[in-house]
Amino acid sequence: MKTLTFSNGDKMHAIGLGTWKATGGDVKQAVKDALRAGYRHIDTAAAYGNEDTIGEALSEIFAEGEIFREDVFITSKLWNDSHAEGQVRPALEETLKKLKLDYLDLYLIHWPVAFRHGVDFPKKPEDYLSPEEAPIIDTWKQMKKAKNDGLAKHIGVSNFSEKKLKSLVSKATIKPEMNQVELHPLLQQEALLDYCKSENILITAYSPLGSGDRSDSMKGEDEPNMMDIDTLKEIAKERSAIVPQILIAWHNHRGCAAIPKSTTKDHIIANFKAADVLLTDSNMKKIAALDRHYRYITGTFFEEPSKGYKNIYDE
Ligand code: NDP
Repeated sequence: MKTLTFSNGDKMHAIGLGTWKATGGDVKQAVKDALRAGYRHIDTAAAYGNEDTIGEALSEIFAEGEIFREDVFITSKLWNDSHAEGQVRPALEETLKKLKLDYLDLYLIHWPVAFRHGVDFPKKPEDYLSPEEAPIIDTWKQMKKAKNDGLAKHIGVSNFSEKKLKSLVSKATIKPEMNQVELHPLLQQEALLDYCKSENILITAYSPLGSGDRSDSMKGEDEPNMMDIDTLKEIAKERSAIVPQILIAWHNHRGCAAIPKSTTKDHIIANFKAADVLLTDSNMKKIAALDRHYRYITGTFFEEPSKGYKNIYDE
């Protein structure tokens, strides 16, 4: 299994288990199946509403005595309603309580958007806090304090454009260590990758398989199905693999981590085995040609120009 290395030498498996939209018994079993299949990297978020159940799965697995807390890299994310002064630490403590952990391996600012405390999903302009009311640098200072206090080993951001990263880096005393963003062959984001590399910011790819289990209300019209792209099917055949494995292996070949979500045991196992899939230069070139800057997660659901939030990805 390839790993991504943080500046202090800590390592993170380049394939992790995504858990958005996975709840209840399904996610509990998925986390257990994943850890038993060899995964050592789990991705969750306060907003996914599954930290409690994932916490149960982790503590039951750790109690078996074969996999230990320090073996597993666990990421969670600060929800948009806890950016304001004094709110990061309580949010992180709540996450730790639910996950039944003393520390996270990685804590991310989920979105560069702030809501009033207690707002899960905004319905009106007053539900937002503008960037002036809740400056991201102030949220970041609280993240840094949480890291210094030992609640998270590493801190970073998610859904940040190059512009937003540059702005944060110019003001911050420590840089984000990770940017978790949507990435796949239809959205390759070369410039963002180059910038992050130049600043030693690691990248995790979300929705690496096209996020096909989102609710219909989140889906675009005529959304492309990445599992059905001929080039990928041909490469899968050539490499004796399946398309999801090609999609995951592609990230690892670019030096990024990928966190495919699955609650189906066979898929969980197959996705992990993508670590053994080798792609040739010719395969990589063919995949490079598929880029069309297509986003499954458009971010428009958090646009509120009257509160300073439009064009979330600055493009
Ligand atoms: P993915 O791109 O991982 O796709 C998930 C879908 O693919 C599910 O329907 C799943 O079904 C299916 N699938 C998984 N493996 C296979 C396989 N081998 N063969 C066929 N189908 C398969 O979607 P997500 O959007 O969930 O992204 C992954 C993770 O990234 C999230 O779960 C979350 O952890 C993170 N994320 C972070 C975001 C952020 O803002 N930071 C935003 C979006 C995602 P099944 O369960 O049956 O296998």
